[in-house]
Amino acid sequence: MNNVLDMAEVIVVDKQRCHWKNGTCNCDCDCTSDTSTSCTGCKEVCPVEAISRNISVEIDRKKCILCGACIDACPFSAISKQHLIGISS
Ligand code: SF4
Ligand code: SF4
Repeated sequence: MNNVLDMAEVIVVDKQRCHWKNGTCNCDCDCTSDTSTSCTGCKEVCPVEAISRNISVEIDRKKCILCGACIDACPFSAISKQHLIGISS
């Protein structure tokens, strides 16, 4: 049996850097907008609605097209594109 090294790109949210916690934005900026919608970065720019912001921010990898818009939009550099390496046979 031959093992094959698989490499896939995925979008990852760093929960330490992300200020969306328990359903609201907890950053300490001076923004006066409604705290339930003030973190306007990632979810709003996603062209395929792959991002949900409920208790925390989650990316639906089946929907994500790896466009990178959310990476550029996040004011806290909490989103990045990473490589997942796995072995299949
Ligand atoms: S824009 Fe960044 S900080 Fe805001 S919810 Fe998205 S990942 Fe978190
Ligand atoms: S990379 Fe693009 S498609 Fe994927 S979650 Fe971010 S904005 Fe949406």
